[in-house]
This record gives sequence, C-alpha cells and structure tokens, in this order.
Amino acid sequence: MAQVNLAPPQMPEGKKRIAVMTSGGDAPGMSGAVRAVVRQTIASGCDAFAVYEGYEGLVQGGDMIKQMYWEDVRGWLSEGGTLIGTARCMAFKERPGRLQAAKNMIAKGIDALVICGGDGSLTGADKFRGEWPSLVQELVEKKMCTAEEVEPFKHLNVVGLVGSIDNDMSSTDATIGCYSSLQRICQAVDFIDATAFSHQRAFVIEVMGRHCGWLALMAGVSCGADFVFLPENPPSTDWEKDMCDIVKKHRTLGKRKTIVIVAEGAHDRDLNPIKPSKVKDLLSNEVGLDTRVTTLGHVQRGGTACAYDRMLATLQGVEAVKAVLEATPETPSPVICIVENKIVRKSLLDAVALTHKVADAIESKDFGTAMKLRDAEFTEYFNAYNIMTSTEKEEMKLPQEKRLRVGIIHVGAPAGGMNAATRAVTAYCLTRGHTPVAIHNGFPGLCRHHDDKPEGSVREISWLDAENWGAKGGSEIGTNRGLPSEDFDTTAMCFEKYKIDALFVVGGFEAFTAVSELRKARSKYDAFKIPMVILPATVSNNVPGTEYSIGSDTCLNALIDYCDAIKQSAAASRRRVFVVETQGGASGYVATIAGLSIGAVAVYTPEEGIHLNMLASDIKHLKEQFAQDKGQNRSGKIILRNEKASKTYTTEIVANIIREESGGRFDSRFAVPGHVQQGGVPSPMDRVRAVRFGVKSLQHIETFTGKSKDEIAADPMSAALIGVRGAKVGFSSMEKVETEETDWKDRRPKNEFWTDLTQIVDTLSGRKRVKKEE
Ligand code: ATP
Repeated sequence: MAQVNLAPPQMPEGKKRIAVMTSGGDAPGMSGAVRAVVRQTIASGCDAFAVYEGYEGLVQGGDMIKQMYWEDVRGWLSEGGTLIGTARCMAFKERPGRLQAAKNMIAKGIDALVICGGDGSLTGADKFRGEWPSLVQELVEKKMCTAEEVEPFKHLNVVGLVGSIDNDMSSTDATIGCYSSLQRICQAVDFIDATAFSHQRAFVIEVMGRHCGWLALMAGVSCGADFVFLPENPPSTDWEKDMCDIVKKHRTLGKRKTIVIVAEGAHDRDLNPIKPSKVKDLLSNEVGLDTRVTTLGHVQRGGTACAYDRMLATLQGVEAVKAVLEATPETPSPVICIVENKIVRKSLLDAVALTHKVADAIESKDFGTAMKLRDAEFTEYFNAYNIMTSTEKEEMKLPQEKRLRVGIIHVGAPAGGMNAATRAVTAYCLTRGHTPVAIHNGFPGLCRHHDDKPEGSVREISWLDAENWGAKGGSEIGTNRGLPSEDFDTTAMCFEKYKIDALFVVGGFEAFTAVSELRKARSKYDAFKIPMVILPATVSNNVPGTEYSIGSDTCLNALIDYCDAIKQSAAASRRRVFVVETQGGASGYVATIAGLSIGAVAVYTPEEGIHLNMLASDIKHLKEQFAQDKGQNRSGKIILRNEKASKTYTTEIVANIIREESGGRFDSRFAVPGHVQQGGVPSPMDRVRAVRFGVKSLQHIETFTGKSKDEIAADPMSAALIGVRGAKVGFSSMEKVETEETDWKDRRPKNEFWTDLTQIVDTLSGRKRVKKEE
C-alpha cells in the first residue's frame, strides 16, 4: 500500500554524503527506516553514514558516526527498536552542543542528515538547520575549522522522518511505529478481555500517550472498550457519573466485562490528571464491579514492527533520500508524511509548529482546537467510537420515517475486519433507530433457507449479539461466494419479504460482482432499487475503486510473521533460499508489499510474469549475495511468488531450478502458507478502518432516506463503493468503477496503484530487472 513518486530524483549537485540517525523514544520500524536510507543512498551513488545514539553521537563524533555499507543493514527490517541506538541528549539542546555537532559533521564530510524521531527530535533538527550558517561562521571564528574546510558546507540539508509510537505529530496520519504499538496494546487488551469475561470483571488499562490520545482511542475502537480517556478531548465535567452510567447500561444489556482505557496524559476539563486508580475506585464503589488496573508500560514499545510500519519505514526512507538529492539551498526542510495512502513531503517547520499548537491548545483548555488540529481521521474515529458505545441515546435517533431496515451481508472469502465492520454498523443502526438485519451465509443462504428456516437466515441483530465481534476473525454471520444472479427471483422476493430498505455488503471481488449484478438488475426488480454500499474486504486487495481493502493488512502481518520464521530457519541451517507462494489471485499486491516488508530478494507477480531471463538473472544475483554473506551478516533469503505469477514456473519448479542452477553453492526450498494468510485475529488497522468505513457507509445510505425507488435507481451513487484513493477516503459509483476501472477477466483494477513499488523492492535488494527478450 501507499502511493509514492517514483520519478528519478533531480540532483542539483554531485555526490552527497548522507547520514541517518534515530532519536527520542525508540519505535518499531526505525531500523527498517535506517536500512532504506542507507541502501537508497548507496543505490543513488552517494555515501551513507549512521550516527549512533541519536544527537549524543552527533555531539561526540568520532566512531559514533560510521560509514555504512550495503551488507551492514542486512536483515534490519525484521528487527525491533533501533539498531543504531537512540538517546535523549541534553547537550544538543544548548548551542555549544550543536556547535560541536556541526564540527563533527563537517569533519566527516556529511552534508545531509535524515532524522527519524518524534516531535522533540524534529524540533531539534529544525533548530540545527536554522542555525547552521551561524554555527559554521562561529566554527571559523573560534578557529575550530578553517574557512576552506567549511566552504563546501554552507547549507545543511535536513529531512525528517516521524518515528514515534504515540502518533503525536500533526500533518501525518501515521508515524513509524504507531501501528506496531497499537498491535501490542490490542493483543494485551484481547488477552485481558478473556479473563475479564470469565470473571465478569472490570479492567482499567493505562496506555502510552502524554499529549496524544491516538493509541488510547484506537485501542478503544478496535477492542470495544466501554470508555476511553484522551488528553485532547477530556470527558464532560460530570464524567464520573457519565462513565458509571455507560458502564451500568452495558452491564444491563448483558455485557459480562468492562474495559476502560486511560491515556497516560488523560485529565479532566480543568487539567486535573485522571489516573487509573481513580477510575478503578469509581467502578468498584459506584458500579460495584470487581475492578483491576493494568499498566502496559514498555511492552508497548517492544517487538518487531508490523507490516504497515515496515512498509512505511521503507517507503519513507526512500523518499527521504530523494528529498535530500532534490534539495536546493532554498528548499525548506521537509518531513516525510503519509496522508491516507499517499507519501507526501510537508514543511518540517509547519508540522512541528502545528504539533506544538495541539499541546498549547490543551494547556489553555481549548479542547475544540486541540481536536481540530489532529487529522480529520482522528475526529471521525472519535465520533464513530461514541456512536458505538453510547447505546440508544434518544437524542441521537432519527425520526420514525427516516429509520431503515438495513441488510448486512458478507460475500466471498473471509477477511480480517468483516466482523468489526458488522459490529460497527449494528451499533450505528441501533443508535440512529435503524434496524440492523443480518443476512446469513451470503446470497445462497438468503435464498436457500428463506422458507424452512426464516428466522435463521435473516435475523435482526441486537447490540449484545455483535458487541464482542470486533476482535474476531472469519465471519460471524457467515459468508458465501454465491452471487445473486444464481437466483435473482428469490433474492428479490426475499428483499421484499424481509423489507430490506438498504444493503451493506462486505467482501472482495465477489461482493463487488454481486453489487454490480444487483445494480444492473434494477431495471427488472424494484426490490433492488435501494441504496447499496460495498465495503471492500479481501486479503488480495484486488477490488477496483479502492487502494485498500480491509483484511489485506491482517494478511500481510500473517505473511511477514511466516516469512520471518522461515528466514530465521534459512539463515540458521545453511545457505538457503525459500520461494514462498503468496495468495492474491491475479493481483501481485500482497506479494509486493510483503516483499517490501521483509526485504525479499525478488517478487514475482502475475502482472509481470516469470521468464527464463528473469530466473537466470536472479540466480546470478543470489550467487553474488551469498558470496558476500559472512559471519554475523548471514541471512536467509526469500523470493515471494504470487500464486498466479506463471502457469509454467510454479513455486516448486522455481525452487527446483534455483537449487539445480546454484552449482551446489546454496539450497532452495519452497513454502506455501496458504490459508494462514487469512490471519487469525484481525489486525488493529483492519479493525479500526472497518469501523470508520462502516459508519461512513451507513451515513452515505442515510442520504437516500425519503427518496422514491426510481429516484434512488436514477442516482449513480445509490450503488457505491467506499474506498481509499491516494490522500482521500470516499465513495465511488459502482457504475463508473465497473465500466471504467475494472479488469473483469483478471479480477483486479485496470490500473493498480502499487505496481511501481516492485522497483523499490528491487533497488533495496540490489536486484537487476531484465527483459524477457534480452
Ligand atoms: P518521543 O516522541 O518518543 O518522545 P522525541 O523525539 O519527541 O520522541 P525528545 O526526548 O523530546 O523525544 O527529543 C529527543 C532529543 O531531541 C532530545 O534529547 C534532544 O537532544 C533533542 N531535542 C529535543 N528538543 C530540542 C530542542 N528544542 N532543541 C534542540 N534539540 C532538541
């Protein structure tokens, strides 16, 4: 995932010497960012350096600033924390420290610095760059350097990468490390959930975030917490009563467990801290619950990076080097951000200033501004969270005539997040006064059972039914590949019989096909003249009209865990290449993004195919790589082959050819993870996006209330798909996507946004791309 600009950098000057450092709190993915910067620098014909231990290394100089070579960063994508170290450095906050840092950089001939850190580190970077000309002048005046020595270093080039688990930087939707941390938190909350359920207990869980409630909010959305406390948006002045009322209400509805999440920096509207112990006392004394407190602490920082963070670190590292190479003395320092699915450069100065404004707004109790200064996404999640937990508040309900019976159906193979979407939509419907109706086992389920088991196949869902579905994999209401065209008459008859006023469809390419069929059949069946929205959900991420389908992130995480384990075994046993077969149908998305995330030697996609020249060139490349591998730099090698990359060169045959042609220098095996890729527990990203997109889908459906069937049928947006396109999330009309953007034969979008990313996999593995005819 993620769009990047792949145009070759426009270099104003010659060879650069680019240093990379990590600073502030460590975050998963930082090592991956260092790997990407080092390799992209070398691939661009420049020299790469690493500054060890953050600004401390810059101030101390000497061996703390080391030249880095290609093999030095081998295997770093799979490592947690930062392998070049990080530190909090007081000396750098003072000018003499920065003066020494400038001297050390000039001594090593470094003219550009890529810094991966949080807002403190980037504030320091910005200050350093602003002061650079005066620091250089001072070095000459104090005779610490000669005028000749400083001549080539008149300008310092600084690029920021946001590495932080808190996701506290304005201007970017995600920081490197935040989704890994969220994954850790959600794992812990899921574990706690089980014991809370067993004993009917309440748990108050404290998560990191001094000025930023992103982790707390997202954990609340993805784990179905009963209440969350965030620094940006403190609860009402009467929060003690509000919280107890909500918890009591959930218990009255039949919930056996209570989870309350408190951000480390949570406070009330007068900035008095809200501590977990206080929340615990309230739940014990006012609600009468057996309540425990769990502080997750540094567990949240630990572990290897999730797929998204590896991808983000890699793409942003590559973009940072390009930004360095394209910079002129006039270019303002950029920070590399991601907005929805697009990697963009923004002004470092502005991003830092905006981030400080959030803290200032909180400080001055202007919480409305604090919320506005976070990304639009944050507010959407906050609203979605409130809708899901504030069960049946009368003031949130629509008038009777605007209430709908909303059919919810899953179509195609299971994908992570399908249940979270269903839970969100159910809660949304109930809050607004609609009736959520589950259609079990897809369209065949609807048609097959409507006579003999009416109550089983189509059922109104209660809040409690769906309440604990958020973290579940698979499909709780059942999914099926069957299409409406198998029996249009019965499908239409059932829609009428169960008074379905609107349809929310969750699934992959089959779901897309199903909605297309229903839309086209409207001319014959009035029952289909209802608003319909499809939420793309498939591990393959091959639904046209969107760059992201829920379930694809869960799949990538399952795949990288699998590949990490295999890589370790390959490195430990002997020189071995694993050829791993990935799912994805005729779309190479999963193979490519997994390739970026694990540092694959090569990725074979159906879009490009496999040919003998390619295999010969890759075998030659492997021989060279193994020849360089020594001692601690030894690492297992992986080639990812999509299941449909070639009819002739199957995964087993590719592995056999590699073994045969290796001349005994290395071994090759193949591995097929198969359905492991559907993942067990859905990833937090798939869960939270399922909630956000589900709620948005229902809001879209509500825009059609009060319209006649013919008016609905005449509006192209009445059959729509929700998706991400570049920096935007929105709806596309099915008619347009079907006719203009769909490759029906190969069941994928005509233009796949990610295809150029294979170039980055190749660049970072040093692989040459060859043509079939060569
Ligand atoms: P996290 O988000 O994980 O806390 P951070 O980058 O915000 O990461 P800080 O401890 O705030 O972490 O900053 C890291 C280092 O950056 C500091 O130890 C210091 O060396 C440098 N730094 C921070 N603020 C400034 C500043 N205003 N001027 C110069 N250097 C600074």
